[in-house]
Amino acid sequence: MPARRFPGPGLPRRVATLSVHTSPLDQPGAGDAGGMNVYIVEVSRRLAARGIAVDVFTRATSSDLPPVVEMSPGVTVRHVSAGPFEGLGKEELPAQLCAFTAAVLREEAQHEPGYYDVVHSHYWLSGQVGYLARDRWSVPLVHTAHTLAKVKNEALAAGDRPEPRSRVIGEEQVVAEADRLVANTDEEARQLVRLYGADPARTLVVPPGVDLDRFAPGSRTAARRAVGVPDDAVVLLFVGRIQPLKAPDVLLGTAARMLADDPALRDRLQVHVVGAPSGTGLDAPRQLEKLAVELGIPDIVRFSPPQPPERLADFYRAADVTVVPSHNESFGLVALESQACGTPVVAAAVGGLPTAVRDGVSGVLVPGHDPADYAVAVRAVLARRELLAAGARRHAGRFSWDRTVDALVDGYAAAARDMAAAPVRRARRGGALRSLPGMSVAR
Ligand code: UDP
Repeated sequence: MPARRFPGPGLPRRVATLSVHTSPLDQPGAGDAGGMNVYIVEVSRRLAARGIAVDVFTRATSSDLPPVVEMSPGVTVRHVSAGPFEGLGKEELPAQLCAFTAAVLREEAQHEPGYYDVVHSHYWLSGQVGYLARDRWSVPLVHTAHTLAKVKNEALAAGDRPEPRSRVIGEEQVVAEADRLVANTDEEARQLVRLYGADPARTLVVPPGVDLDRFAPGSRTAARRAVGVPDDAVVLLFVGRIQPLKAPDVLLGTAARMLADDPALRDRLQVHVVGAPSGTGLDAPRQLEKLAVELGIPDIVRFSPPQPPERLADFYRAADVTVVPSHNESFGLVALESQACGTPVVAAAVGGLPTAVRDGVSGVLVPGHDPADYAVAVRAVLARRELLAAGARRHAGRFSWDRTVDALVDGYAAAARDMAAAPVRRARRGGALRSLPGMSVAR
């Protein structure tokens, strides 16, 4: 058996990552798979490269899935049986959390005591599992919400369903219990404090990253050839799950507006929508196709199914502008990836997007969701595209997954130090005294 690696004093050896409702093995851009999946993959790989093993627990959604999959060296995905495999919606998952938690605890019980040093939960459903695991194992719980119900409910798209009270309560419980809350931006940290009463001292701001090797500038001509776009086309791009929250309808309205203002664009304007439906509401692309017909622009709108990252990079490079008109976005990885490829972004000035996009430097931020305003912003970007493309590359270069992981590892260590120094809180939870390698425990 290989010797167990100890990456260093104060560092965890193994992290239990919880991702109940969606798997890092899923293709992002459809259903429940999106930025959170990318986040978990990128962070887990980099933790493992530093000698910190990661076990990702996720619900098995098919009987064909093997119980254990090595995703990459040092990263293991553990498929947990909790409820029927197929056909269970996210809203039904709270009823499966006991089964999921039991499976996580049983897995740990098969190993020597102290197998996991940290629990990192993603999304509130996983936070619910995480805080029981944390109590049983006496290790810190670090939680990343990814989205927050109260924030989402404040910015609902027309016809979108509000998040239920049970989720709000579940999130409040996780916020109260977590040893560290990870927010993507200062804005999200403020929301956690203002709306959920989070303790600012336990709330960390850790910006997500972008893979600058994968999402890099390249020949626009070659990219256009790869995705079948003529050289003289004006391409507006939408990437992501098709759902009311992401407002792809605003992009279609923008294109219609641009054509109304400048009919000569008709032969050149193209709207590319990359992604597939998620959840209920906008039952797209069918709904979007219908909208394109209503707006008189079905001939310029092209739909592509979710794409793997290498191929997605070609779409970003081929586009003149990527449009992210979301009603809310806790960060907006798509905006960052587009900029890394040298394509400026027009985005709604909401949530994390003002961090992901530098207004006037790497793109343009638009208040509200009026297509007329987006048309003005798109035209402004087209007029200064080269300058903004350079700004976009520079801005994206400030983000990296390695920096994300640096900050997360610091957060893990700080949470472990607090835990080691707080015997009363630990005792109340009934856990044993534990510490990270090389760290002393207060008694
Ligand atoms: N994505 C992808 N293929 C697609 C569409 C999207 O791999 O066809 C990925 C995209 O690269 C990004 C993520 O899905 O990393 C979406 O993240 P974002 O933060 O923009 O939105 P979220 O899904 O978290 O709401």
